[in-house]
Amino acid sequence: MTAQAPGTNALGTPGQPLRVAVVGSGPGGFYAAEALLACGLAVEVDLIERLPVPYGLVRFGVAPDHAKLKSVTAVFDGIARDPRCRFFGNVALGRELSAEQLAAMYHAVVVAVGADADRKLGIDGEHLAGVHAAGDFVGWYNGKPECAAMCFDLSQDVAVVVGQGNVAIDVCRILAKPVEDLRRTDITQHALDALAASRVREIHLIGRRGPVQARFTPKELRELGTLPGWRPIVDPASLVLNEESRQELALAGFVHASKNCEILHSFAAHSGEAARVLHLHFYQAPVALQGSGRLHSLTLEKQRLAGPAGDQRSVPTGERSSLRAGLLFRSVGYRGCAVPGLPFDTRTGTLSHRDGRVMAAPGTAMKGWYATGWIKRGPTGVIGSNRLDSVETVASLLKDLPALDTPKPGRTALLALLNAMGHRVVTFDNWLAIERAEQERGHALNKVAEKFVRVPDMLVAAAAQPSQPAPA
Ligand code: NAP
Repeated sequence: MTAQAPGTNALGTPGQPLRVAVVGSGPGGFYAAEALLACGLAVEVDLIERLPVPYGLVRFGVAPDHAKLKSVTAVFDGIARDPRCRFFGNVALGRELSAEQLAAMYHAVVVAVGADADRKLGIDGEHLAGVHAAGDFVGWYNGKPECAAMCFDLSQDVAVVVGQGNVAIDVCRILAKPVEDLRRTDITQHALDALAASRVREIHLIGRRGPVQARFTPKELRELGTLPGWRPIVDPASLVLNEESRQELALAGFVHASKNCEILHSFAAHSGEAARVLHLHFYQAPVALQGSGRLHSLTLEKQRLAGPAGDQRSVPTGERSSLRAGLLFRSVGYRGCAVPGLPFDTRTGTLSHRDGRVMAAPGTAMKGWYATGWIKRGPTGVIGSNRLDSVETVASLLKDLPALDTPKPGRTALLALLNAMGHRVVTFDNWLAIERAEQERGHALNKVAEKFVRVPDMLVAAAAQPSQPAPA
């Protein structure tokens, strides 16, 4: 997308470059920066990241044994190295900076902070020890600072994962994969040690709807059938489809369903013996969790589907059963958190927006404020989905150019503010020093990298490069 050629001294010319702050350096943020750098105008893009390390979900969400998915960071590095782009790590909206301050410094702000919170099941017993958000487990094995000190009792023999998405599959696979296959990845050493001592021998992956409605993708599902020492178990009766589900197989929103069903049929036909079992349950929902202090068992209620093809919901049947388990991960989707100073839709857990424009009220856009990625559309899609999303948002921003307030000082003012606070900014070169140190730590352990899991340790490693960015 290329903006119209502006007149001399207009916004977007060398005399008055378009100054944009992108808040968040995950896929949505990087792709927004990329679209801005490609728009044909004179631009300055500042990527503002709350942690000293970039890449958001690619660093903290992608499973360590799916290293190929992380290769997108090479694209992000190219964006960050563009001379028109600056990385401001260890700087957070709502911590060092307010929304008002950012709005005063930049012509536009693109919020790309992702969806960091988890959805709850909303049932009795969710507070029990042994019940966790899948996102915390993912953050723990991926070295997210907030999750590093968490404990997961892997001495339990039965674990339950609730949800039928790719995060649920990631959790099952990391619990079941031989540690030898994880040892050389960038999984955190604390997770590797805990997984090596794991006594989990039975995993139940529980979904409230059927195989056609499951959200996971075939590649990820197929991997569950390849885990050495584990046998996937599926009740063939749960693979019998109702008429509406059969119709759904031909609908656009169900592209993976036929392949998923095929894989599940192959699991159901699997007759080999294995010491460990992975049960895939359909049409089951937990309705209560029991235990005194710690999870001991859950009550499941059988579900049936109701509604037209394409919009079938799970409906309880009243038929209940009990399952013993000491560990449960709810993997029922992430949720965005409110951004201080911006209107937030608590129903969807996203910023209210129209085509990426943050909306103060229906029909009223907040001038200069935009959103992209999971905080805009919710936690859906793959990494590449954020590219299209960011292109849409940047197109809206460029359309609004004539209405944006000028002049704005941009990064000069940001640096002056942070310097006056004595705040430690992490530049992209600083990040590269952190990355080098992580790789060196990893090599000593025969791993790709050993991530720092504490912000102070990241800052020490960053100090191998000059700390503050050069003046603008
Ligand atoms: P997701 O794909 O939206 O799946 C959420 C699952 O939770 C659905 O099966 C949903 O069932 C279920 N659920 C929601 N509320 C529930 C409740 N109250 N009780 C029982 N089940 C409930 O979310 P996700 O797995 O967190 O993944 C997020 C995004 O990241 C997805 O786009 C995913 O594809 C992506 N991702 C991709 C990869 C990869 O490419 N390898 C890896 C990880 C994540 P209903 O459908 O019935 O609502």
